Amino acid sequence: MPPPLTLYDNYTRSLRAFAPLKADEVRLYTCGPTVYDYQHIGNFRTFLFEDLLKRVLEWNGYPVRHVMNITDVGHLTSDADTGEDKMEKGARRTGKSAWEISRLYTDAFLDDMKRLNLQPPTLLCRATDHIKEQVEFIADIEKNGYTYRTSDGVYFDTSKQPNYGHLARLDKAGLEAGKRVEQGEKKHATDFALWKFSPPGEKRQMEWDSPWGVGFPGWHIECSAMAQKYLGDYFDIHCGGEDHIPIHHTNEIAQTEARVGTRLANFWMHGYFLLANDAKMAKSAGEFLRLQSLIDRGYDALAYRYLCLTAHYRTQLNFTWDALDAAATALERMRNGVFALGAAGKADARYLERFTAEINDDLNLPRALALGWEVLRGDLSAAAKKATLIAFDRVFGLALAEWQPKQEVIPETVNALAAARAAARQAKQWAEADRLRAELHAAGWEVEDRPDGYTLKRR
Ligand code: AMP
Ligand code: ZN
Repeated sequence: MPPPLTLYDNYTRSLRAFAPLKADEVRLYTCGPTVYDYQHIGNFRTFLFEDLLKRVLEWNGYPVRHVMNITDVGHLTSDADTGEDKMEKGARRTGKSAWEISRLYTDAFLDDMKRLNLQPPTLLCRATDHIKEQVEFIADIEKNGYTYRTSDGVYFDTSKQPNYGHLARLDKAGLEAGKRVEQGEKKHATDFALWKFSPPGEKRQMEWDSPWGVGFPGWHIECSAMAQKYLGDYFDIHCGGEDHIPIHHTNEIAQTEARVGTRLANFWMHGYFLLANDAKMAKSAGEFLRLQSLIDRGYDALAYRYLCLTAHYRTQLNFTWDALDAAATALERMRNGVFALGAAGKADARYLERFTAEINDDLNLPRALALGWEVLRGDLSAAAKKATLIAFDRVFGLALAEWQPKQEVIPETVNALAAARAAARQAKQWAEADRLRAELHAAGWEVEDRPDGYTLKRR
């Protein structure tokens, strides 16, 4: 019997055996992209971790109901609820409307998801399509006595919850002591916006009526409202990047506890950051690598997926081109190796069990990947190796079964030059043959003569 699935829960700060709350499915919510710009490869490290989690759950026989949101309003440039809405700022940057950039960057996100072999969520929901649910949510917690108003919005009073900040083990007293002037009329440093009013005299592109005045929802309320609507008051797993622990997820929990008394999810799991030059890779820093930036440099998108498999999701990973090179080379070798095995037979039960043990140990993909290499290099029959590796790939997602070595496509012009050279040789026009060989050379091709003709190779 393989060991049961164990996952690290940040709420309890412990490894816990996983069992679904409902027998028939696992309910999973993952915080989606803020669509004011392209997602960078750091964001995709988190989405990759979530994809792997889903695949591991499925490997264990649990159907997964996965809900992901699209943040298309309310995420301000500062997590402290000051600054501008990222969407309105992005609209100004691009000269398009906030609605247009939402569509544009959502589509780009979905394309990149496909290129990375990320399985689509069961349901993708936009914050702007759920304003009614968010207003109802705020009205409920207002009724329960957790809110207050200032001149710029409706805020959550975190002093009303003795266990506020448990997820992040927040030092509330320390934060309160160090509070800064820019917190405006907020009563406590950790209080956060539920509804922000449109600035006086300014017409925002995205604004709605509410019982409190025209404005827009705060960033955290969208996830609480949509998660609860589609997955219920208490579901299995909630995920995001590690940056969500102290603010976004802390506040999602606070709101949901204030409304229904649950902490929203049984497990809180977080993907650790991708760093660039040992510093945080952030969209707001203005410089970041997109998946397309890697493809433009000639990398296969799945080489990035492979790179992410080599690091455990609870460790930070520093991105370097050398590391990506090594991942691309390893992927190429694995693909060639699997292809060369020929037809698949029956997967090896002992290896499948060992694989389950690795991935069930809090998604230890680096060790699972090493096991993949052990299978490829080991002494199972070729047919058993192939079937075993294709089974592993249900979790790896490296498209190992579909891959075929590239057939070199020789351009027409190159074929014509080579044919002309062969004809010149036959006619014993050696100077002309040499000239054509030089021309082929200049075009990047090498011609090798053989007894039965010739072959062309890239130089
Ligand atoms: P955003 O579009 O900013 O809402 O972020 C989308 C997801 O990417 C969230 O789950 C973030 O926590 C995550 N994220 C942001 N930056 C990074 C990074 N450098 N490495 C890994 N995940 C990140
Ligand atoms: Zn969220």
